[in-house]
Amino acid sequence: MANNTPQIIGRADHTVSRKHISKAALKVLYTLKDAGFQAFLVGGAVRDLLLGGRPKDFDVGTDADPDQVHALFRNSRIIGRRFRLVHVRFGREIIEVATFRAASDPDLDEDRSDEEGRLLRDNMYGSIDEDVWRRDFTVNALYYNIADFSVWDYVGGVEDLKDRKLELIGEPARRLREDPVRVLRAVRFAAKLRFMPVPSLESAIAEHKELLANIPPARLFDEFLKLFQAGFARSAFDALRYYQVFRELFPDTAEGLAAHDGEDFEHFIRTALDNTDRRVEEGKPITPMFLLGVFLWWPIRARARMYVEDDGVNEVQALGRATYDCLARQQARIAIPRRFGAPLREMITMQPRFAKQRGGRALGFLEHRRFRAAYDFMLLRHVIGDVSDETAEFWTEVQTMEQAERVQAFGLSQKPANKDRPRRRRRRRKPPPSNDG
Ligand code: ATP
Ligand code: MG
Repeated sequence: MANNTPQIIGRADHTVSRKHISKAALKVLYTLKDAGFQAFLVGGAVRDLLLGGRPKDFDVGTDADPDQVHALFRNSRIIGRRFRLVHVRFGREIIEVATFRAASDPDLDEDRSDEEGRLLRDNMYGSIDEDVWRRDFTVNALYYNIADFSVWDYVGGVEDLKDRKLELIGEPARRLREDPVRVLRAVRFAAKLRFMPVPSLESAIAEHKELLANIPPARLFDEFLKLFQAGFARSAFDALRYYQVFRELFPDTAEGLAAHDGEDFEHFIRTALDNTDRRVEEGKPITPMFLLGVFLWWPIRARARMYVEDDGVNEVQALGRATYDCLARQQARIAIPRRFGAPLREMITMQPRFAKQRGGRALGFLEHRRFRAAYDFMLLRHVIGDVSDETAEFWTEVQTMEQAERVQAFGLSQKPANKDRPRRRRRRRKPPPSNDG
């Protein structure tokens, strides 16, 4: 599989076309080349171009060091501590330029990895034929050379791409110990690209998935976004559960799914995932706080019931406390930025308000800035019978009404003379599809 001289696939024999590479990426590639450096498109962009897709971002590999790259682009800055990268900015697009780095072998080089074999440092510059070995999957280790538009393949990546085969470069167990996030990357590419992990990768995942517990929670939040906010949330969920990795990310959620009423919870989650994927497809905005609320709903609800029964607090207070607790427990795995925690708690603690359908306060609920998210969440609860048909219908209908009609619906009356007029029912409309605010 692996070779120290690349197979070079000429322009005529592959499908990567400059037409599908962003202007910004081409500019960076040509500027480096014209300055006498090697310049390659690398990683996921080459993979996606060979698959006929449109990459969402372009990464460049070069033998120029970060200071040399920085000197070539006014619109650039050096980032990163563990290894230095250059970000070149063109409007909203950022091209990431990485200097080739030497692969490190943690078995040979002990002070560069911890007891579990995790890489601590890998910041030694190298050449392209060293750089290739530090990459994760064969299909992610292809290089597109701007000098002659050829594709360089050291690891059989082009063939694996044709076979839709996902295979780590090198010994799978060692590569997963080096960086357990590769477990999630494997599951993500399996779900997103419908690539099949080879059996040796599957067994290495089974053996090493628990190492995800050692990964900093902040890094796992990024992975959470890539798994669940990119349009394939449903298949990511299925793949994570298939490989029994989901419980490493969401232990309390996994417990809820395994409980006696877990089927309802699963239906609840799947409906939300489908809605999210649909919204991404339609180009509608989404927020991670909604799915986090969905994943934590079972544990939150169970805990809130406990607070109501044992401590006699009201439902809203109980939900507030339970959300706080469950978020804190979840943070041990995935760091949820504060800007998502507060709205999530609001969305959850607003749920009891849907039961109150009379009066000015109920009417005012419609204007709450978090109403939309709370409403979408309530509709999900309705899907599994947590909320009555009447309640779901009421809040769906009032949103389509004119103000005067709304006032009546909430049992408020503008003109006392009209008080006895029977409330007219509007024709039912389908709730507008949406899952957040
Ligand atoms: P995506 O389509 O999600 O952007 P990608 O393959 O481009 O997928 P990135 O996270 O953008 O993924 O990384 C770019 C490249 O860097 C990868 O293709 C791979 O070669 C390398 N890489 C990224 N993360 C790792 C990792 N954890 N271990 C080894 N190589 C990695
Ligand atoms: Mg990428």
